[in-house]
Amino acid sequence: MHEPSEKCPHCGLKMSKWAAPADSKWGTDVQLICFNDDCPYYIRGWEWMKTKFNQNVSYRHRYNPSTGENGPLPVWSSSALREGIIE
Ligand SMILES: [Zn+2]
Repeated sequence: MHEPSEKCPHCGLKMSKWAAPADSKWGTDVQLICFNDDCPYYIRGWEWMKTKFNQNVSYRHRYNPSTGENGPLPVWSSSALREGIIE
């Protein structure tokens, strides 16, 4: 399991396998999330959301290997949603 798709396209680090909370809209697929706090995508997210929407939130890069879909996973803190990390 070392396909390029397992790495975050924004920071190049290996993404974490992540299971969504049971009550979320993300479903039951195991997804890959970049939980790197130094990821430029995540860092830019704070600035963008603050400037555009005056909100203290950001997002992490998310990739669903089951569907091939990727997009943002909104987070409200550095520790948010980490409890779903599988490995
Ligand atoms: Zn990243």
